[in-house]
Amino acid sequence: MKPVYSRILYKISGEALMGSKDFGIDPMMVEQVVDDVAHASSLGTSIALVVGGGNLFRGVSLAAGGADRVTGDHMGMLAIIMNALAIRMEFDKRGVAATVLSGLAVPQVCAPFTQRAMIEARDAGHVLIFAGGTGSPYFTSDTAAALRAAEFGAQAIVKGTQVDGIYSADPKKDKNAKRYETLTHDRVLEEGLGIMDASAVALARDNDIDVVVFSIHQKGELARVICGQGTFSRVS
Ligand code: UDP
Repeated sequence: MKPVYSRILYKISGEALMGSKDFGIDPMMVEQVVDDVAHASSLGTSIALVVGGGNLFRGVSLAAGGADRVTGDHMGMLAIIMNALAIRMEFDKRGVAATVLSGLAVPQVCAPFTQRAMIEARDAGHVLIFAGGTGSPYFTSDTAAALRAAEFGAQAIVKGTQVDGIYSADPKKDKNAKRYETLTHDRVLEEGLGIMDASAVALARDNDIDVVVFSIHQKGELARVICGQGTFSRVS
């Protein structure tokens, strides 16, 4: 198998790390994510990870109860860092060098994201895990993925989700939902397709970055997808 992309940003939601649990981190899912990244990297593609935090905390849920949104978002970004640390520990266990760089500074825990730190770790062959979102409230980890993809020089954001592509509606709720094979960024925005928030899609479009959506539930699918095989939808 030959990869279509030489450098990608792999985005997984916090939800993906829950596995079959209702909350938190399922160690088996962390193992699977790391297996998939190790396998896909062995094909020669340089991969950086962005993880979300929705399995642990979302700022909007706190705000919905009348509490302060900004503090809630800070808590959400800390949740993202917890997920990133769980993933790094799994790389550590396997003796694979991995570096967590965070948009939210928590210096005792991991290095803050800077372009220089990213380049140094990338050139040293480390797996990069971008944590802490953008570091700013009112954003999502999808927007952080688009931002870091541009900074990392990724040709694609490859998004592992609960479903195997982009649909006109949630296929788990709507039996008539139509599945798209290929789309443009503008069409995603015009039709309001919920694969990523609009700011993330616009950032990807403006920086000529593809968005590839596939199901995280198929072991080894990440490697197939970056080789243009398997089941996925592509925005380009
Ligand atoms: N968050 C934030 N700024 C960012 C990224 C994330 O404030 O740049 C906060 C926000 O509260 C969000 C939470 O972190 O709800 C977890 O991120 P997200 O919901 O995007 O995670 P995912 O849905 O991918 O699991």
